[in-house]
Amino acid sequence: MAAAAEETEKDRRVNALCEDAQDCVACPLHVGRTNVVFGEGNPNSPLVIVGEGPGETEDKTGRPFVGRAGQLLDECLRECGMLRRHVFITNVVRCRPTLLEAGRLKNRPPTAEEANTCIGLWLEPTLSVIDPLVILCLGAPSASTIIRKGFKMMQERGQFYETKYARYAIAGLHPAYILRQQGEAYDEARALLVQDIEAARKKVIEAKKEPPKTLF
Ligand code: URA
Repeated sequence: MAAAAEETEKDRRVNALCEDAQDCVACPLHVGRTNVVFGEGNPNSPLVIVGEGPGETEDKTGRPFVGRAGQLLDECLRECGMLRRHVFITNVVRCRPTLLEAGRLKNRPPTAEEANTCIGLWLEPTLSVIDPLVILCLGAPSASTIIRKGFKMMQERGQFYETKYARYAIAGLHPAYILRQQGEAYDEARALLVQDIEAARKKVIEAKKEPPKTLF
């Protein structure tokens, strides 16, 4: 049996943030949540994936990207030779945003206020501890948070941008969006996500060879 990897400072600090987040009541999303979905994976990874926010299955389990969209993400990661333990996966918000439609709770995008609260309290501190070389944003709300407000997914995905959170960030189509496509449109959108994950993976390898940006 392989020896368990030793806990690093990053592991400890991300675990501490995760523990603190469990009691968060900083925005109205805490009222309807079952679980806080903090994020999971490897805090020592040079690659962080940031989605939008938990859906129903994530809220039930407390884990990011475990519903249908998550299964598609796992498949695409595997096609690029990666597993969840090779990356850290989190979201713009940690609690499921919902609206009631015809008696059923449906997912909705987070409001700017919900997103800003969660970004300041949890996303920024998490990214600052992990200090990734590359961030892959899934969907426009994530790209608008990490790369630039008003990011245009269709025109601007697949390219690298410098950000304050990581030396490089790239955005790809959200797996939930891909699942809503049919036939050829589905195949094309899925192929683009695989392409963007692969680009992120290659950028990590290149960036590791670059000299650090600052001397001190
Ligand atoms: N969609 C997201 O953006 N994040 C999740 O964790 C699940 C679905």
